[in-house]
Amino acid sequence: MLGQIADVFAAFSQDAGHYQFFIPVLIAMTDIELIHQFVQAHRLHESIPVDLAPLYDIYDVREVDFSNAIQGFCYASKRHTVIGINAHLHPYMRRAVLCHEVAHDLLRHPNSLYLRSVNESRYRYLEARAQQGAAVMLVPDRLLRLIDAHSISIPKLENYLQVPAELIELRLKML
Ligand SMILES: [Zn+2]
Repeated sequence: MLGQIADVFAAFSQDAGHYQFFIPVLIAMTDIELIHQFVQAHRLHESIPVDLAPLYDIYDVREVDFSNAIQGFCYASKRHTVIGINAHLHPYMRRAVLCHEVAHDLLRHPNSLYLRSVNESRYRYLEARAQQGAAVMLVPDRLLRLIDAHSISIPKLENYLQVPAELIELRLKML
């Protein structure tokens, strides 16, 4: 089953058109399992810091000259998903925003800016899920075990992983 799902994601990355066909398989998984499967399928956790290059092959990622108010966005059309990242953010934060937006896409969240105006609590729920998804992508499980064993500090880990401390803290809270 797990191998099959990995194949599903591999197929998705090659041809977004196949994605619709596999949706019934994906619904059976929880949100966080789904993120783990994506991480595995694209071998994101094989290097530290996590290598996000595969995401640039799957998504049309653009750095955008936004004001400080907007960190990023994800826009999915039928053929193509564009992820925008605020070009002025710190590099660690840009990594976090990229994974946050990828999580919105993987979890099939509809346009969240629209949702915010119609239903604030639903919006907050989706934001929290996307942020947890980013934490799973950027902080490999095996590293969490190291923190326990060697009591490595969060600021040290922040530089080692190139991930904002808040996301590492979130990942620890999810255990
Ligand atoms: Zn979001």
